Amino acid sequence: MAAEIRIVPCLTDNYGYLVHDPATGATASIDAPEAAPLIAALDKEGWKLTDILVTHHHGDHVGGIAELKQKYHCRVVAPHDANAKIADVDTRVAEGDHVRIGNLTARVLETPGHTLDHISYVFDDDRTLFAADTLFSIGCGRVFEGSYPMMWDSLLKLRALPDDFKLYCGHEYTASNVKFALSIEPDNADLQARAKQVEQQRAAGKPTLPVTLGEEKKANVFLRADVPSVAAAVGKAGESAADVFGEIRERKNNS
Ligand SMILES: [Zn+2]
Repeated sequence: MAAEIRIVPCLTDNYGYLVHDPATGATASIDAPEAAPLIAALDKEGWKLTDILVTHHHGDHVGGIAELKQKYHCRVVAPHDANAKIADVDTRVAEGDHVRIGNLTARVLETPGHTLDHISYVFDDDRTLFAADTLFSIGCGRVFEGSYPMMWDSLLKLRALPDDFKLYCGHEYTASNVKFALSIEPDNADLQARAKQVEQQRAAGKPTLPVTLGEEKKANVFLRADVPSVAAAVGKAGESAADVFGEIRERKNNS
């Protein structure tokens, strides 16, 4: 049976996600920005939290873990991290590991750059990717702990997933990302189309997620650092994709 997914707005602009297996009743939260909205969403559905799948150690992704664990006695799955910055962890996972949520299976991809411990979860059967702060719609995370080549490699790993996979990210940043991306690729028709869609979604108070990876590959400038016209647009024609990516990321930091 297909997973049921709920988007749970948390804090200022974070998203928590509930992934529910209707066959077994198992329910995982992807990250836990804060407990109260997730508890309210679980209560509304009549679901009980069995697992928390953590993507990285930032406070706005782990802040709700302690309270949720105390309430539901759920399993906490988190990235391998030599510094063990995340508390209350039951299971640590790394590249290629599989996590079972009832009958659902999440595959772990290591996607460092935003932080060194950042992982993404892929539900292959459900054609779904939870990329947290590595890949945003029309954007990507800031590179806090890793390097630009490292982050570019992580984005390539996500870009290699099939076009029909749905992307869920850690924040609602799409509108500001679109504005920035248009400053580099004003003539990208796919980006223009996404801009219109995002404007309508936000005006209606709706999340801009999920979005398919196929759409992102065509419209997200951060996934397009190896496109010659993008390199030229940021004055890096002929340079490595990682360098072009770094230039785009720097411009976004300063935008
Ligand atoms: Zn983060």
